[in-house]
Amino acid sequence: MKINNLTIKGKPAAKPLILAGPCSAETREQTLETAKELASFGIEIFRAGIWKPRTKPGGFEGVGKAGLEWLREVREVTGMMTATEVANSKHVEMALNSGVDILWLGARTTANPFAVQEISDALSGTDITVLVKNPVNPDPELWLGAVERLLNSGITNIAAVHRGFSTYERGLFRNLPQWHIPIELKRRVPSLTVLCDPSQIGGRPELIYPISQQAMDMGFDGLMVETHINPSVALSDKDQQITPLALNSILKALIIRTSIDSSERLG
Ligand code: PEP
Ligand code: MN
Repeated sequence: MKINNLTIKGKPAAKPLILAGPCSAETREQTLETAKELASFGIEIFRAGIWKPRTKPGGFEGVGKAGLEWLREVREVTGMMTATEVANSKHVEMALNSGVDILWLGARTTANPFAVQEISDALSGTDITVLVKNPVNPDPELWLGAVERLLNSGITNIAAVHRGFSTYERGLFRNLPQWHIPIELKRRVPSLTVLCDPSQIGGRPELIYPISQQAMDMGFDGLMVETHINPSVALSDKDQQITPLALNSILKALIIRTSIDSSERLG
């Protein structure tokens, strides 16, 4: 599988690449306030879900199309790039039309080859950056299969996101990291950019720092962290979101080693 180094809007991706923002865009105010504060700490890419895949019906399923307008305002007001999750071809069409810079496939979508194929077909002919979260089950083939479907549609700016794997047992983590799976992915495709999402893995604020540090130590290329202006009132993933201020102190505390020989790094 041939993958180039990741570029975003034609420029090489920063290293480490940091995406931050709320699990969900909830209101215009919450979206803009979160983005402004992140921008004030130098974060350049804003993530926010607007179509939310929820386990059961009846929960907050995202604001939908209205959120695209808020993301446009985030770009305008802060100069940040924006990223959102797409789960079908309609989402892709709407997100592309409204100028979203980066799209991601969620864990439930990556697990569904029909959906991945539909999205890949809808993206064909664009040069947008696409992030592929691991499938909910620990299957590196399914993860790579999604990357391959995108590649086959001519999408070349692809990165993987490790967000842990579902289990029945409840333990320390919300989703088990099973680090050997992203290691295997990287071994199979060394040029693939791999990010870590400590929010979905940890499921609680106090785990964001240690998981992020572990990812950095293992040579991951960046982080996607759920960040909310007021986590205690978040409409989704309330227990794992952190404030922009907390994110800033975590990022400042991270030790990012660059001296290790390239042959000994995951990346
Ligand atoms: C998210 O990032 O908000 C999300 C739903 O992630 P995942 O697909 O990894 O569960
Ligand atoms: Mn979430």
